[in-house]
Amino acid sequence: MNHSFFRIILSIKEHSKLCISGNFSFKIYLAVSGLLFYFACAYFTDTAFAQTSASISDTGFYFDTVVTIRLDGTQDETILEEAFAQMARYEAILSRTCEGSDVWNINHSGGQTVEVHDETAELLALALDYAALSDSAFDITIAPYIDLWDFQNNPGNVPSHDMIAQAGKHIGISGLHLNGTTVTLDDPDASIDLGGIAKGYIADRIKEFLLEKGITSAFINLGGNVLTIGTKPDGQLWNIGIRDPFLTASDIISIVKIDDQSVVTSGTYERFFEKNGTVYHHILDPHTGYPVQNGLKSVTILSDSSADADALSTTCFVLGLDKGMELIESLDYAEAMFLTEEKEIHYSSGLPQNKN
Ligand code: ADP
Ligand code: MG
Repeated sequence: MNHSFFRIILSIKEHSKLCISGNFSFKIYLAVSGLLFYFACAYFTDTAFAQTSASISDTGFYFDTVVTIRLDGTQDETILEEAFAQMARYEAILSRTCEGSDVWNINHSGGQTVEVHDETAELLALALDYAALSDSAFDITIAPYIDLWDFQNNPGNVPSHDMIAQAGKHIGISGLHLNGTTVTLDDPDASIDLGGIAKGYIADRIKEFLLEKGITSAFINLGGNVLTIGTKPDGQLWNIGIRDPFLTASDIISIVKIDDQSVVTSGTYERFFEKNGTVYHHILDPHTGYPVQNGLKSVTILSDSSADADALSTTCFVLGLDKGMELIESLDYAEAMFLTEEKEIHYSSGLPQNKN
């Protein structure tokens, strides 16, 4: 435990030299709370954290979140090091707050066309697809609203209707154009935020890298975005515990069994504040600028691709139970679990839980 703890602190230190994004003490708080959740998972599920002699793992801090990678069947620490180096590279090109990143360049382009890395272009194309699929329930041009709410630092200020209306003038996916690896954001005051999809996309890229290195069993956790390679080393499925948001961070409401797949949850309890009895959380309705209030507490998505699972968890949360479930049933590559504020669980038709 001490080793992992100090490794996280070291990672924050090393990392902060590369790209200082956000509040440092907040990062330490998140690192410590993430570490607590990491051990809670080990206790309540047999996911990935019971390390065996044939496995190696490491933890770092990227995108304001705790990242853990466990590899089975190898003792080659250089693979882990390279995976974390890639994580740092992805943060340096995709972070909004990292000066000179592709996203920073797009957001400071003043309406001019900018050139981006292949990966950024691929990620933007996917984000555009999900905006089209959901009638902009998923919309990465939501950034001006995100800035107003600033859930990371906001002690509880609800923006005025007027501020929301002003920010709303700069939101709309139709103003974002991707042409190969060039990007144009027409409105100089518009900006993009990849918080709803980037972690999943990066997890997929890290998995791809590990597969190239011949890894056949691995567990990647990017701040709750879980992606696995193969089965556990003993051939059993991975058990992923889904947090019970009505209880403490270590309580599990459901367990999903997967192999070679991703599980991603979006919920109201991840980043929020409470004011006058109302909970204001970080998943916003791009059509109103306000946190989505539709009776959902969380949405969990299973898919082969973590980018799809990440985008869909946010999308389905915004769409709500009925439209979200309809979308999932229309896709052959994703399954979902919706948890309502009434504590009802709704599973999509392809999940084994639905058939019990
Ligand atoms: P987490 O970041 O906790 O994993 P999500 O994947 O649900 O959670 O993404 C939430 C993040 O996505 C927000 O913090 C914000 O950056 C962004 N976001 C919020 N609402 C939307 C939306 N309607 N469409 C696209 N991105 C959104
Ligand atoms: Mg998401």
